[in-house]
Amino acid sequence: MTAISTPARVLRGPLLSFAADPGDGDTPAPGSVRHLEDGAVWMVNGHIHAVGDYVELAPHLPAGINVVDYSGKLMMPGFIDSHVHYSQLDIMASYGRQLLDWLNDYTFPEECRFADRVHADAVAEAFLDETLRVGTTTAQVFCTSHPGSVDAFFSAAKRRGLRMLAGKVLMDRNAPDGLTDDTLGGLADSERLIGDWHGKDRLGYSLTPRFAPTSTREQLEATGAVLRNAPDLHLQTHLSENEGEIAWVSELFPESRDYLDVYERYGLVGPRSTFAHGIHLDQGMRQRLADGGASIAFCPTSNLFLGSGLFDRQACHDVGLATSLASDVGGGTDLSGLATLKGAYQVGQLLGQPLTAWQGFYRLTLGNAKTLHLDQHIGQIREGGEADIVVLDPQATPLLARRTARCQTLAETLFALMMLGDDRSVYATWAGGQRVHARDAA
Ligand SMILES: [Zn+2]
Repeated sequence: MTAISTPARVLRGPLLSFAADPGDGDTPAPGSVRHLEDGAVWMVNGHIHAVGDYVELAPHLPAGINVVDYSGKLMMPGFIDSHVHYSQLDIMASYGRQLLDWLNDYTFPEECRFADRVHADAVAEAFLDETLRVGTTTAQVFCTSHPGSVDAFFSAAKRRGLRMLAGKVLMDRNAPDGLTDDTLGGLADSERLIGDWHGKDRLGYSLTPRFAPTSTREQLEATGAVLRNAPDLHLQTHLSENEGEIAWVSELFPESRDYLDVYERYGLVGPRSTFAHGIHLDQGMRQRLADGGASIAFCPTSNLFLGSGLFDRQACHDVGLATSLASDVGGGTDLSGLATLKGAYQVGQLLGQPLTAWQGFYRLTLGNAKTLHLDQHIGQIREGGEADIVVLDPQATPLLARRTARCQTLAETLFALMMLGDDRSVYATWAGGQRVHARDAA
């Protein structure tokens, strides 16, 4: 619950929110979409007090309440990014490496800088400015192995009243000295951070072993023990992103039958576990993940940028394995959820699995909220939910204005936004009932 008391307000304009998975068909499943041409969202103390057609709600509004007019725009639930590294903001768009060289050449040197709390604070603020600029109000975030990097991130998110998940990277081998933690000391630091931040205001903690190669068996075992004792914690890590990585895991863990088995052995595959990438998996591994209740974060712009491979969304769907959508910045090329949808659509086209705009925007909002077990709070514009809202502008650029002028249906407009949109398409962002970004603000 947000502790911040904010003035009551009404946002008026076109509104779209999903009540359920619309499916993959051209027409959304009955009852899955709520679309109001002239909607109103009445926000009180960070929550949505009521939502409906403006003409129906108007007689019930208190006299003199502030009404913000978003006619011509499109309000949606704030976007959610299920996997991103805030510490990698400044190495985005670094040239020409695949995963393991990328880590050694760019990521690890950059992450060493986060030993300095002043640097961590500055990057955390810049990262949140950028995520709110693209309409993302919630993310599951990798910090670095320095506890101070987590304090920096949560402090900044708390001050802005945001719902965020984050955690300290656990990494006790195969990284530079400035980044490796002590096997059990890394867990002790995590437990201190959990005590300080988990469940405070809108914040939650994700246990964060970077990936199997950078943790010893002892550290993975200890992480599993913490998770077993606190099942309300999340867990985030990486899985089967790249062929070189998979070969390295099999060298480091010869006793395991495959990469996933390493995580299974230590009790890390649970309902709140997010495995980023999961590109190179067989159906048996997907089934095991589904049986554990875990999910895969599909990171299309990162997978294309690092040349990691094409994620098979349909194969996951076939075994009931939940997937979410993520930017994976800095491997990803864009923080924008719209850019992530564009990448997901392109990957889908190459596999004969096109992504409809309905399914795409569902994934960015309620779908990601459900996969992250946050849907009791966010993901919909609904009575009692938290007031996190993105206001999109279908006329944001001259080109978008030309294109959307031709659109006959909402589905066409949504698709144009997902292919042509960027930060300029986000007119405003609200979080916890407060405006946290306005495109045209001086
Ligand atoms: Zn990642």
